[in-house]
Amino acid sequence: MVNVLDEHERTIAFAEVALSQIKTLRHSANPRNYEIWYVYATGYNAQLNEIINGTLSRNGRLSQSDLDQLYESYLTHLKTSDRIDKVGSRVVGEIDDLMNMITDALGRTASYDASLAGADRMLASANSREQLVDIIEALARSTKEMRETNRVLEERLSLSKDEISGLQHSLEAIRAESLTDPLTGLGNRKYFDRMIETTVQTGLATDQPLSLLMFDIDHFKSFNDSYGHLTGDQVLRLVGMTLKHAIKGQDIAARYGGEEFAVVLPNTSLRQALTVADQIRCAITAKELKKKSTGEILGRVTISVGVSMLRAGDDTDALIERADACLYAAKRGGRNKVVCESDPEYTAATRGQVA
Ligand code: GH3
Ligand code: MG
Ligand code: MG
Repeated sequence: MVNVLDEHERTIAFAEVALSQIKTLRHSANPRNYEIWYVYATGYNAQLNEIINGTLSRNGRLSQSDLDQLYESYLTHLKTSDRIDKVGSRVVGEIDDLMNMITDALGRTASYDASLAGADRMLASANSREQLVDIIEALARSTKEMRETNRVLEERLSLSKDEISGLQHSLEAIRAESLTDPLTGLGNRKYFDRMIETTVQTGLATDQPLSLLMFDIDHFKSFNDSYGHLTGDQVLRLVGMTLKHAIKGQDIAARYGGEEFAVVLPNTSLRQALTVADQIRCAITAKELKKKSTGEILGRVTISVGVSMLRAGDDTDALIERADACLYAAKRGGRNKVVCESDPEYTAATRGQVA
């Protein structure tokens, strides 16, 4: 009951900040504006807050068009598939325009060719100065027309080039978004599945070491139950950020699912991977969690980590299964620890499974 009340009070506090901003800045109190200010009050979307604070300190106000733009950029609920549809239909429209342009240009080139051929024929039989002048004038006219056609064509092609490059950026942004976990900004499961597959293939082909770390937050359900889902989300962000800072170069970090994360370390032996895993475990445990709204100290979260290393003749599923089995050995061994496949905990656990 205490927890439900706590969540109620916290969200009411956000709602009050949102409403007071709307009143102070005399914005319409419609759901879109309210959502922007509510998210601002939570502080969850750092980029949104940065832009709002920047605009406010520059202009002292936010116009409705500023708010609309913020909504479209940061809070739009248009599904990725709808955005792909939109960009797709613009691509089809652009291709249609280009096809029409090409057909038109081909027709004009053919008629210019015909006028050149006609001039050629007439030149063969011309026997007076007047006839020659007529032929030259006709040639000059059609050449001028052709130049004008080319000029228009060039202009339209240049517009098309800009439009296509804009579409390329939109598609690239949609692609990146479809591979990103919105809460933590890390790669999502789809990204992880793709990356681990290619990295494992490269590791096997080049005989390079490759290690996989699987993380799971300890007792996260009871953390959520005690402090609320939104505070739980902040912890997920914190873990995501810690992973981002801990990896480098070609390492791959992703949110594997719920409160589970994965890191793929190419060119990394089991021993080095254990060091990285323990650094991450210590970095997370070292952070004292504080509730943003009240400053209340929430304590610390711990994580358990399983580490496996690619073997000759291995495949991706086997590598993941071994890291997963190590992770659960770490859980069974008391949590807040790193277990790898050469540790006795793992060996004992797998022996137990076989028997
Ligand atoms: P264990 O130490 O054995 O891992 O215990 P646990 O409580 O962490 O494990 P369990 O699988 O029982 O619970 C996982 C919890 O993670 C349950 C769910 O509420 C929480 N969770 C999963 N995804 C999210 C999320 O996106 N946000 C928040 N706040 N919680 C999430
Ligand atoms: Mg879990
Ligand atoms: Mg857990």
